[in-house]
Amino acid sequence: MQSIEVYATEKLASLEAKHLRRVLIDTARDGDIWVKRSGKKILSFSCNDYLNLTQHPLVKEAAVSAIKAFGVGAGASRLVTGNHPLFRSLETRLAKLKGTKAACVFGSGYLANTGIIPIFVGKNDLILMDELAHACLWTGANVAGTKTLIFRHNNLNHLTDLLEKNRGKHKRALIATDGVFSMDGDLAPLPGLCDIADKYDAWLLSDDAHGIGVVGNGRGSSFAHNTTTNIPLQMGTLSKAIGSYGGYICAADSVIDLIKTRARTLIYSTGLPPANIAAAIAALDIIEKEPGYAALPLQKAQTFTEHAGLPTAVSPIVPVIIGDAEKALAASRMLEDEGYLVTAIRPPTVAPGTARLRITFTAAHPNTEIIKLANIIRSRIIKGET
Ligand SMILES: *Cc1c(COP(=O)(O)O)cnc(C)c1O
Repeated sequence: MQSIEVYATEKLASLEAKHLRRVLIDTARDGDIWVKRSGKKILSFSCNDYLNLTQHPLVKEAAVSAIKAFGVGAGASRLVTGNHPLFRSLETRLAKLKGTKAACVFGSGYLANTGIIPIFVGKNDLILMDELAHACLWTGANVAGTKTLIFRHNNLNHLTDLLEKNRGKHKRALIATDGVFSMDGDLAPLPGLCDIADKYDAWLLSDDAHGIGVVGNGRGSSFAHNTTTNIPLQMGTLSKAIGSYGGYICAADSVIDLIKTRARTLIYSTGLPPANIAAAIAALDIIEKEPGYAALPLQKAQTFTEHAGLPTAVSPIVPVIIGDAEKALAASRMLEDEGYLVTAIRPPTVAPGTARLRITFTAAHPNTEIIKLANIIRSRIIKGET
């Protein structure tokens, strides 16, 4: 065996012992909410396809037409020959949706955050990050090499404290948070974060991967609060409620121009296939025309929390915290035996001791199934825990 194989084998064994080894399971989507695993058809409560737009006839048709007209791949980076005119249409639409002057589309949400953060902060600056912020915000901070202080989850007082003590020592400062937290489903207090950002001259970056399309009348988490927010960097993904693939950032003209000039993950990575862009535009058409449809995933989540006896959902994501990683896996297996796909989320995706079931709701989930799932979880998981 080569030494790299010895390393990998030993590392895997040690992760396995801690129930932290991960494996990919073949899973074929089968319509709106069903998946096929090992020949068995099960009902998925684990997709981020909140509006089932990955399967929508108009969205699929837009992608197929774009492939027929323009081919499959982009052929090059956007700065070379990969900047299909569809990008301009999509960016105009995104900017309008978010109420900014401009937007820039990236290859993915992960690439967006990784590319954007190092443009605005560097070695002598400061980042303040919510402790539960998504992995790609941390990657962006690491790439930037910027001193990063962690504030307690959604804790405005702690953030203020950290800024009070540290802001003066740094030239520029960035506050980074999810708008809707991906593993907890709660919302960031964006209006309060905006006020603090203004007071300390820090720039707020909000990651709305789980907000666009499903909260704030489909406009996302910056529109989900009673007051208007003024967030200079509004990032998100086209891969969840939008049903396609890719990431975006909405901001002022000059900010977007600087991003297009400097973001390494934009410059040195191939542009999105035209089909993905066309599909995203078709999805935005549907979301903008049918705000009632965009409201469904949250309503479904609230039906679930009501029947499960959990706090009322504020997004389509509902966590059921179990604690122990092995117990979370066992709960997930039990639900799979019942015909439901509900994945267990373990460290390091979530903090040690907070392994959980992460349940997501989509517009197409029937209430009867939601209530059945809630009853199983209430009687066999929540009660079993206490
Ligand atoms: C999924 C997710 C991303 C990454 O987006 P992709 O387009 O899938 O790369 C970024 N941030 C959050 C909060 C996410 O949940």
